[in-house]
Amino acid sequence: MSKIHVMSENLANKIAAGEVIERIASVVKELVENSIDANSKVISVDLVDCGLKKIKVTDDGIGMDKEDALLSFQRHATSKIKKEDDLFFIQTLGFRGEALASIASVSKVDLKTSQGSIGTHIVIEGGKLITNEESDAKKGTTISVKDLFFNTPARLKYLKSNTTELAGVTSFIERLSLSHPEISFTLTNNEKRIVFTSGSNDLLKTIHELFGYVVSSNMIEVNASSDDYDIRGYICKPVVLKSNRNYMLTFVNDRMVKNIDINKAINEGYRDFKPDIKYPVVVLKIDTDPTLVDVNIHPSKADIKISKIDELIFMLESMINKSLRKTLLVQDMKVNTNVSAPSVIEKDKNVLIEASDEVVKSEEQMTFDYTKMTIEEESAHGFSEVQSQVAKQSEDKKINEDIKRLELHPVGIIMQTFIVAENEDGLYLIDQHAAHERINYEKVQKQMKNAENYKMKILVPLTLEFSPSDYLKVEEHKETLESIGIVFENFGVNTIVVKEHPTWLREGMEETLIKQIFDMLIEDSVKFDKMKFLKRVAQTTACKMSIRAHEVISLDQAKELLKQLFQCDNPYNCAHGRPTIIHYSEYELDRMFRRIMN
Ligand code: ZN
Ligand code: ZN
Repeated sequence: MSKIHVMSENLANKIAAGEVIERIASVVKELVENSIDANSKVISVDLVDCGLKKIKVTDDGIGMDKEDALLSFQRHATSKIKKEDDLFFIQTLGFRGEALASIASVSKVDLKTSQGSIGTHIVIEGGKLITNEESDAKKGTTISVKDLFFNTPARLKYLKSNTTELAGVTSFIERLSLSHPEISFTLTNNEKRIVFTSGSNDLLKTIHELFGYVVSSNMIEVNASSDDYDIRGYICKPVVLKSNRNYMLTFVNDRMVKNIDINKAINEGYRDFKPDIKYPVVVLKIDTDPTLVDVNIHPSKADIKISKIDELIFMLESMINKSLRKTLLVQDMKVNTNVSAPSVIEKDKNVLIEASDEVVKSEEQMTFDYTKMTIEEESAHGFSEVQSQVAKQSEDKKINEDIKRLELHPVGIIMQTFIVAENEDGLYLIDQHAAHERINYEKVQKQMKNAENYKMKILVPLTLEFSPSDYLKVEEHKETLESIGIVFENFGVNTIVVKEHPTWLREGMEETLIKQIFDMLIEDSVKFDKMKFLKRVAQTTACKMSIRAHEVISLDQAKELLKQLFQCDNPYNCAHGRPTIIHYSEYELDRMFRRIMN
């Protein structure tokens, strides 16, 4: 102790009050990472009052001897830092190694540690050593941090509300559990268990333990590899989409990262399978040569810089898209008998989401609640059921083979909107508009690529007048419009006359649709993206040419509709990503009617 320069308490506190202890989660992070470094297999984090009163971390790791235990509370750079001016230096050194000393300077720390023989018990309060004695010999380390900032009360107010701090710790432990499925983690607050993972070293089981049956039973195992990257993990079926990106969990070389390019690539992989405003649950581990990764982009943030990012983006996108295409994605409806209390992270479950489909909103006045569809009694399902389901999915299948084999027998149409169909697996409901829109959407997309064969002369040439700036945009994208069969000529000042149009515009609505296409073009032009524009044109025209909700169709038409739907590339979603079909299994129906009681 005497050899090492001991900094003034004041200085130590200033350091601690800096960026080092921003949140309760930063303290938990430091303590738990030490436990992981000590090869622990079982780690529990017990909080009192969300950690503001007490944070206790217990592990079964290798422990420390007396000397190391004392050293762990000292700054290894202390001999160099004597003046407050050197604060800048200590911050550029980073957090690890400095943190425990900082924490001990602003709290009451109680440490018991042992390597299996003699144990050590150390108590430090506000940086002062109070107790240093022998203790029991149970291998491992238990450390408690009590009354954080008790001697710098002004700092206390920088902490967020109890629930925010708890949510921060919870999400940190969740992420750590996923990056270390081989370690059993427990998190409690005021003796109430919040997180438990068994340390089975099975990623899917860990997902099950964290996110429950609904999520884990709807995961698809994925993997891909190249010379530079190995990717493995799980992605969700579009049944369990979320309203935020919090469930898109990616780990690069076991480090949790938040990278905008990676997230974009994941979303692109889902492009046709979900609405733009919904995000998937994804747990992906990416292993790569550490020299390709720059983690120091911002020391306190989880972002990283990857040098061969384009390759990674391509791999992620195609891996996800391929896996979705070869999985049977009809959503299963589950019984809701006893909704369990939502955990901190499940806050978004009850949010009512309106479909992002403007046309649908205005014309059909629909709101759509994805989340209510899958709420169910989580405890009713064990992990073995999840395992068998996921095993079934990962059998190699040809793309969409399963749904093409699906033979449904329509038995009626209810509310002039939903086709009711059945087969030996149970009951299906199909949204007649969504289904027809999907069929038309794929048809329009094919015909768009072959404009020469799918355009016609307009009967009464359509004259359109624009503002000078809009006119310039129209001129600029003349070729794009011609490529899909909209041919026009200049006709005086800021005016054009449309002479030909695509055959795939709904009869009688040609004029309206052409005008709408020009509007979309003008609106998009600020940062024009041809692919996105063409997609929107296809979405809008497909929507307009499809059977609407509350439009009467015959059972034969319904039969034909189903037949065509199952020939589609993606039969599960309308052009805007809403579902076309949902399924109630016989088992679920039996449960709903209490024919079986489990
Ligand atoms: Zn529509
Ligand atoms: Zn739609």
